[in-house]
Formats: sequence, structure tokens, C-alpha cells
Amino acid sequence: MQPVRNIVVLTGAGVSAESGIATFRGPGGLWEGHRVEDVCTPAALRADPALVHRFYDLRRAALGGVAPNAAHHALAALDRAWPGGLLIVTQNVDDLHERAGATRLLHMHGALLSALCAACGVRTAHAGALPPGSRCAACGAAALRPDIVFFGEMPYAMDRIVDAIGGCDLFVSVGTSGAVYPAAGFVEWANDRGAATLELNLERSAGSDRFDESRLGPAGELVPAWVDELLRERR
Ligand code: NAD
Repeated sequence: MQPVRNIVVLTGAGVSAESGIATFRGPGGLWEGHRVEDVCTPAALRADPALVHRFYDLRRAALGGVAPNAAHHALAALDRAWPGGLLIVTQNVDDLHERAGATRLLHMHGALLSALCAACGVRTAHAGALPPGSRCAACGAAALRPDIVFFGEMPYAMDRIVDAIGGCDLFVSVGTSGAVYPAAGFVEWANDRGAATLELNLERSAGSDRFDESRLGPAGELVPAWVDELLRERR
């Protein structure tokens, strides 16, 4: 196997599960008691903006009661120590990777602590509640919405992600179901480029067969063990 220099880590809801944030597909296929179609689509936002805004207000408020877990800390330690290329691409909208100290990080599905102006497209840091009709400081329109990439919308920074995967020797997926595209297809791009591919997940996922290796268990155990292994091999 070629020596590893450039790494892409894709994380999903499973990396934050041990911090107490519910995953997407909880019991009955609901996200915090809601059907995904009712809170995570442009049509839902048009049909019932109060419900959708309130849903993300609650998710944002809940961030105050959670903390990064061992998996976030291990990825932040990798970020500090790894001399080669590294990009952590998270599908998560929480801020636990950055609170652990990760910097080479990209939120492809948006962020709870950000608001998006539907009129001018400007994204601004936002804490606290975001009622429908909130005004954009940049253009003045009463058009701020949660800065969440809904189903059917284009994820952020796809050009950077394509470049990073196109140049990586190792692609690692942590705590993601392999059900949400385009992220679920990243492993195929990495395979096409000849990178080694590793999945770390609680259970086998829809994409497990596409990885060279799948390790099963909680992210809070698997991620620190993998980071230790990688940094030890490097020494
Ligand atoms: P998902 O809920 O579809 O899948 C989570 C995966 O994590 C499952 O395969 C599950 O087996 C695994 N998992 C659960 N607990 C785990 C643990 N302790 N250790 C390791 N793996 C564990 O999540 P997804 O694939 O990320 O779905 C994508 C969408 O969910 C994203 O768009 C994301 O924005 C949204 N989401 C984000 C958050 C968050 O920000 N924390 C929470 C819920 C949903």
C-alpha cells in the first residue's frame, strides 16, 4: 500500500450520537420526532415556516447542553498532528468538531449557528432563536432562514470536496448511514482514485460493501484507536 499523505474524513450524525445528539434515522425513521420531509425540504419551509424555524431553533438551543466526545477530540488531535493534507467533511450541522478544536473542517450541509438570507444568499453567524421574517443585516430583506442544506438543495463547497477526494490516499467515513447523497457516493470517488477506504460505524451501513475495510463499534472508541494507529505508523 502507498504511504498515506492526504486524508479525507467524512463524518455523519453517528459521530455526535455519544454526545447526546440524536441521529437522523432515530426510532421509526424520525428525526427528533419529525418526518424528515416535514422539516428538511424547501417545500416544508414554504408550507410551514414557523414549524421548520422552531425545529432548528430547538436543535440550536440544544447545543448548549452537549459537548464534544472522544471521537471529536481524536479528530481534532489528528488535525493538529497530521503533517500531510487533511480535510474533515462533516454532514453534521452541530458545532462539536470545531468546539473540539478541528480547523481543517467543512460543513457540507450547513450549520445551526448560521443563518442564510434567502434573498441575497449571505450567510451570517447566528445564535439564539431565528423567527421567520428575521431581517438580513446585509440586504435588509425579511428573509433569513436556517442555514441548513435541505434535501434537493446543493451541498456547500462541493468543488473543494471533489478536489480533496481527488487528491487523497485515504478516505475514512465515520458514523454515517451511507443513505444521503452525494456524501454516500464519496467512497466511490475515493475508490476510483485508488485511495484506501475505511468505514468506522456502529453497524454495517448501506455503503459498507464499498469500503476496503469496515470496523464496527461506537465512534468514541473506534476513532481514537484509529487516530493512534495512524500517528504511531507515522513515527
Ligand atoms: P444517519 O442518522 O442517517 O446515520 C447515522 C449513522 O451513524 C448510522 O449508520 C448509525 O448506525 C451510526 N451511528 C449511530 N451511533 C453511532 C455511534 N455511537 N458511533 C458510530 N456510529 C454510530 O446520519 P447521516 O448519515 O449523517 O445522515 C445525514 C443527515 O443527518 C445529514 O444531512 C445531517 O445534516 C443530518 N443530521 C445531523 C445531525 C448533527 O448535526 N449532529 C444530527 C442528525 C441528523
